[in-house]
Parts: sequence; C-alpha cells; structure tokens
Amino acid sequence: MSPADILALSVREAAKAIDAGSLSRGELFETYRARAAADRSSATDGLNCFTWVAGEAPIEDAPAPLGGVPLAVKDLFCTEGVPSQSGSRILEGYLPPYTASAVSRLYGAGATLLAKTNQDEFAMGSSTENSAFGAVRNPWDRERVPGGSSGGSAAAVAAGLAPWALGTDTGGSIRQPAALCGIVGLKPTYGSVSRYGMIAFASSLDQAGPLTRDVGDAALMLRHMLGRDDRDATSLQFPEEIVAPAAERLDGVTLGVPEELTGEGIEAGVLESFRATIELAKELGAELHTVHLPHAPHALSAYYVLAPAECSSNLARFDGVRYGYRAPEAGDLLEMYTRTRHDGFGAEVKRRIMLGTFALSSGYYDAYYGRAQRVRTKIAEDFRAAFSAVDLIVTPTAPTVAFRLGEKTGDPLAMYLNDYCTVPMSLAGIPAISIPSGLSGGLPVGFQIAGPAFSENRLLDAAHALERAIGFDAGAARV
Ligand code: GLN
Repeated sequence: MSPADILALSVREAAKAIDAGSLSRGELFETYRARAAADRSSATDGLNCFTWVAGEAPIEDAPAPLGGVPLAVKDLFCTEGVPSQSGSRILEGYLPPYTASAVSRLYGAGATLLAKTNQDEFAMGSSTENSAFGAVRNPWDRERVPGGSSGGSAAAVAAGLAPWALGTDTGGSIRQPAALCGIVGLKPTYGSVSRYGMIAFASSLDQAGPLTRDVGDAALMLRHMLGRDDRDATSLQFPEEIVAPAAERLDGVTLGVPEELTGEGIEAGVLESFRATIELAKELGAELHTVHLPHAPHALSAYYVLAPAECSSNLARFDGVRYGYRAPEAGDLLEMYTRTRHDGFGAEVKRRIMLGTFALSSGYYDAYYGRAQRVRTKIAEDFRAAFSAVDLIVTPTAPTVAFRLGEKTGDPLAMYLNDYCTVPMSLAGIPAISIPSGLSGGLPVGFQIAGPAFSENRLLDAAHALERAIGFDAGAARV
C-alpha cells in the first residue's frame, strides 16, 4: 500500500487490512512514526503536537483486535519508561514505573504506543497554550489554537500524524479540541474508564476518552478501554458492550435543544451550523423539542470553584521530594518547597491552586465549595428531568471556532467561557460526544450530543447517523 492509501484508512480498516495480510504492522507503524517524528523535529513549521515520539516499531505480532494500530496518548497518562509530564516543567523527564489502566487495556487489545501528545499543563486550559513545552497549532490554520487541553491529541489526529489518540476531559478537554480541529471526541460516563495512572487534575470530573477521525473509531477505542478496575475505586462496570454504531436514521429518537446553551454567547457561524444539523436530524426522522436546563448558566461558576479546589489538593504532591523537579540550592525545606513550586508550575496552574486553596479555606468552605457542590447537584437534576422528556440533548460543542494564538491568553475569563457548553455534562457525569458539523469561515464547528449515564451506544448510533448525513471531510486538514 502507498503511504497515501495507508493514511486514508480508518483504524477499523487498518486493523482489518492487517488481519487480512494486505498491510503489515511495521509498515503502518512506520508510516505514522515517520510523519510524527518529522513534525516533532521541525522547529519552525511543525504543529508541536508531540512531546515524545517512538523510536521504532515494537516487535510483536500475536493477532489482536486492534491489530497493532499505533496510538497517540495524551502526556498525562503514565506510560512505563516513557516521559509522562502532564505538560509541566515540574514533571519534566519523569519516567513512570507503570502504565495507566486505560492505556494498558488498549495495549492488551493490540494498540501500540506511537507518541505522547502535548497538552495544557495538568490539563488546565482550553487552547493548549498553557503547556510548558510550547503551544500547539491548529492544522486548519497554524495561527490558531487547536483547543485544549487535549490539543496535541486533536491536532495530531486532524493532521493525520496519528490514526487516533487518547485524551482526557474534565470540563470539555476532549470535546472542545475535537470541535476546533474537525474530528470526533467522546467523553464517556464518569467512572466507565479507569483513572488509574492518569496524572490527576480534578478527580471527580477527570475522564479518559477517544479522539478519532470518525464515530466508528471512537466506539472501537471505547470498547477496548472500558471497565471496572480494582485500582480506581470510582470505576464502574459498564452495563453493556459497546457495539459498532450502524444507525443511518434517527426515527423514533427525540432530541432536546436546551434554550440555555444554544443562544446567547454562541457565535453566529457556529449557531448556523448547529441549526443546519438540527434540520438534518429532522430529515433523518428525529423529533426535536425545546428543553430547559435552568441551572446550566451557573455551571461554569461552579466548575471554576470545584475543579480548582480538587486541583489544589491533587497538586500538593508536587513538592520536590518524591518525584519531578526540585529547585537546586534551597537553604531549608520550606524554601525548597516554595522554590520548587514557584519554578515548576506555570501561571495558570498557580492561579488554580490559589483559587482552590482559597475556596477550601476554613470560613469560606461553605460559601464557595459547599455552594458549588449544591449547584452541581441541581445541574445533574436538570439533566435527569430533561432526559425524562427526550432521549438525547444537543448543543454546539464550543461557542466559537478556533481562535488566534494569544487572543485569549491575557483574559482567563474569556478563555473559561469556551467551556460554557461542555462543563454542564462534566458536572453531571454524563457522556457526550462532539462530531464535526461543517465549517464556518473555513474552520470546523462541533456539534455536541449528550445522553444519560451509560447511554454511549445510543449516543454513538445517533452520532453515526448524523455523521453520514453531514459528510464532513475528515482528511481536509491532513498535512
Ligand atoms: N478548559 C477547562 C479547564 O481549563 C477544561 C479542561 C479539561 O477538561 N481538562 O479547566
């Protein structure tokens, strides 16, 4: 097969070709490895989406469902003996002695590690400009951001530098970069994928999931990473198998359009694409209803108390003692701690730690953290009520298309607004997928579909039917 033929294959097709003997594992791996390595080494015109690229193809040829297909993995997943730095100076060069469960399950199904992908430091951000290893560029327009925090994963898949990638989503970090890069991103139900070995940001929200070229590949990856893990007490046994989505119609499916997430603050071009997709859904047989999520407008405020609170606790472990960076020549222990954290963390991480520490301090705990938790409960109740009337909820994924590098770095609140449509689902712990719905001004727009906990098969089916009808060209930004 020619490299162009290989690049055109979905993961499902590549695994099938390997199984049939028409493509070798080595050839597939090397095609992507060479492309990823070239991007990483081109200092000036690369996308900077990788923090590490494999040196050679692993030798192993037992037949496996994923057939040896290469996988790009977000930096924050621990991978044994391979740098796992969560985009942070404080973990620069850290080589974990073990591999995260989500990754080892995918290895077990036959995936091989191609590369680690760049990300916002500790997954805090919406543009991948907060990485200690430099910003990632969007392959659709290199002057623009790929979204974040899984921006390296999204850019790599959109550019055809990896066939698919693993990301994490705490408040939108799989869905929003997928939207801004014109690919598919799925955040599963909280607990369905083990968090063991994921360098934590906000443990009650963090969830691993796929970033892929199409919905079928997202289902395939999810199928092989799900499941209860004794090493993560919050992980759950998923009640059913994830099957290959096949729906071509939406007859009998009711879709709810929440007024609160589909109006004010959403860019005109994004709304236009959203409305066009709704029309397509009707043509496919779906019934559309307006629904209300009255507390959704408060989701961002609650999230930006809860996530920093959890991060301030999770990041306390980076103290220069156990692993990672240690400030040299500190006079005493306290100075060593403070200098390590001063030098090791970037500005956004420090802002979050300060916010979280404040929100959790005695005397303020009830006013901030306690109140935010109550809002979180209300948001989950809103979704429950909405899902008694409709099967799935649809919104734009992000309020805008990809913005320019540097455009929002000086204004954290403007940056936080990017998560307006994705954070409510994170707080409720429910699954949501973003699929490309078209272009606005030449840049991709994402369409989000959310469902009740464990409705992944239904979500994937609906996304599959819409994807076929939309006919987005997944290869348009390939480099
Ligand atoms: N952009 C959000 C934040 O900065 C979400 C990040 C994420 O999902 N990891 O917290």
